Amino acid sequence: TAKRVSIMEAQNQPKKTASPANVRVVVRLRPYMHKDDQKQQGPCVRGLDSQCLEIINWKNQLETLQYQFNAFYGEDSTQKEIYTGSIEPILPHLLNGQNASVFAYGPTGAGKTHTMLGSPQQPGVIPRAVLALFRMTQAESSSRNYEQCDISISMSYLEIYQEKVLDLLEPKNQDLPIREDTGKNIFIPNLTQKTISSFADFEKHFIPASQNRTVACTKMNDRSSRSHSVLLVKVKKKERFPPFRQLTGKMYLIDLAGSEDNRRTGNQGIRLKESGAINSSLFVLSKVVDALNQGLPRIPYRDSKLTRLFLDSLGGSAHSVMITNIAPEHRYYFDTLTALNFAARSKQVVNRPFTRETIQATALAPLKRPQEETDTSSGSS
Ligand code: ADP
Ligand code: MG
Repeated sequence: TAKRVSIMEAQNQPKKTASPANVRVVVRLRPYMHKDDQKQQGPCVRGLDSQCLEIINWKNQLETLQYQFNAFYGEDSTQKEIYTGSIEPILPHLLNGQNASVFAYGPTGAGKTHTMLGSPQQPGVIPRAVLALFRMTQAESSSRNYEQCDISISMSYLEIYQEKVLDLLEPKNQDLPIREDTGKNIFIPNLTQKTISSFADFEKHFIPASQNRTVACTKMNDRSSRSHSVLLVKVKKKERFPPFRQLTGKMYLIDLAGSEDNRRTGNQGIRLKESGAINSSLFVLSKVVDALNQGLPRIPYRDSKLTRLFLDSLGGSAHSVMITNIAPEHRYYFDTLTALNFAARSKQVVNRPFTRETIQATALAPLKRPQEETDTSSGSS
């Protein structure tokens, strides 16, 4: 069994008595893909249990780095498991006027859009959550409560690109300002807001808007990986009789820009200004999550447009989940480490070599063993 040789980042060790984190941080590892691994090196990350994973330590072949999170979803995890484990529990709070936010973070290609949007065959968090909200409000409507309240659901859909807010439902609305009312509620004055009365209604607005975004991005050198897309769903409950009290719960569902370091990977198409804006807004987001989870007195929401938007829905009484998506192939290694260090509740170095043999047994589908597999670099017997 592994013997612990050193413990890093002792300040990040979870306290036994700690209350639940303000931001739940979970990690999802996408399945290994041969086409993403030209050198056929095999995966360099693997799950250990429902909270922990390990990754090769590039500094020392005889060690692995082990990380712990609120939850870890392995490569076999389904869209449904992510949804029921991490998203479904926060939905009822929206009907009580509380706010929520779900972020997908990680390098381009690691599965953010798959997790949030998915496909018709494997729907992700967004369609599942919207459908569930309609079911919940219908259930509420048929209960006695309904005689006193009207419930309505509305949606907005925006993109933050180069620190500018763009309305995806009305593309002529560009560079919209973010405002705060006296009750510290955040709003965007001219952002389109559509009332939706069914899931079909939601799709009617959402699908063309997200397709617009995809078309724009292929023209503009994969813009989708360099902008944050933000779906806002509001649930409003209004009393029918005086004093006509009103409760509004907001939920943000966010597919963040790729967290990869574009300067390091030397992506030719990306101007420095652009990667600077992405890296700095994601950096501020990581500081906000860190400050919330450490209970620091100052939360730097106002240091970027992205985090300013979430001032009333990330931390505090809001229900927030950060899904960190990672990929197992070596070409993602340094971006994976960055993402894990952002997300980790704790990390330690363990003196157990990450052998390719073990990986092949657990992680790879049976395949013909290539001749060149006599690899001397793994340092294992
Ligand atoms: P990102 O949005 O982070 O750039 P994508 O969601 O586009 O990444 O995923 C990259 C590729 O990997 C896509 O082809 C996607 O369908 C596939 N993929 C991602 N996650 C999974 C998963 N859990 N299971 C199967 N395929 C996945
Ligand atoms: Mg994507």
